[in-house]
Amino acid sequence: MERYESLVIGLGAMGAATVYQLAKAGVKVAGIDRHHPPHTFGSSHGDTRITRLSVGEGAQYVPIVRNSHRIWRELEALSGESLFEQSGLLVLTSREDFDPSDETDFTLRTIGLAQTYGIEHEVLDATQIRQRFPQFAQVVDSAIGYYEPGGGFVRPERCIEVQLRLAEQQGATLYKGETVTHISSDEHGVTVTTDQRTLQADKLVV
Ligand SMILES: Cc1cc2nc3c(=O)[nH]c(=O)nc-3n(C[C@H](O)[C@H](O)[C@H](O)COP(=O)(O)OP(=O)(O)OC[C@H]3O[C@@H](n4cnc5c(N)ncnc54)[C@H](O)[C@@H]3O)c2cc1C
Repeated sequence: MERYESLVIGLGAMGAATVYQLAKAGVKVAGIDRHHPPHTFGSSHGDTRITRLSVGEGAQYVPIVRNSHRIWRELEALSGESLFEQSGLLVLTSREDFDPSDETDFTLRTIGLAQTYGIEHEVLDATQIRQRFPQFAQVVDSAIGYYEPGGGFVRPERCIEVQLRLAEQQGATLYKGETVTHISSDEHGVTVTTDQRTLQADKLVV
């Protein structure tokens, strides 16, 4: 039975990055996916995914995203593929009942994080939003915008394809078209059963 230091189940955006980074770090790693990534059946399917440093969902993501922007450029240099388009990114709130002191407002949270972490950005009022982004000419007078010039979008399927290719070049084993049907663990590590084989590992990333 084949044994690895690490196994990664699922090779979408998360798994492809995980298996690549582990392989690059010299870990004996294998990845398993029930389909042949990149494919159309998971969350990572599609042409684009937005990305920005000031992630209004939470401060904990800021260092992770900062790191990812560096990694996209690293992967582009290694692969020759275009992965990250720094088009600039606009977040805005346009609500009649907008309260500028509302700490839960997503745009205000985004602005606050950018200020805290020194992320290059501009704060726009309704007039500036209308001038710079005429497609949003209908915003209400109290609208507020956050513009991050370093934000943009990545090409998720291309990112997966590149990372899996580079992972294999770094020695990773990829089991594609195999469905994991059972996982168990004991003091010796983890055992992963697919519809085609059984694998063992010290560590498992699901
Ligand atoms: C429409 C849409 C728009 C989005 N927009 C954004 C955005 O703009 N910016 C942003 O940051 N995020 C966005 N997201 C979120 C982001 O795309 C997801 O968080 C991300 O793609 C999740 O990746 P994942 O690897 O966790 O999941 P997936 O890509 O779904 O990968 C999971 C993998 O596991 C495999 N798998 C499942 N079960 C098994 C099994 N039993 N055995 C083997 N393999 C298995 C699947 O085949 C699949 O390949 C968006 C999501 C959606 C759906």
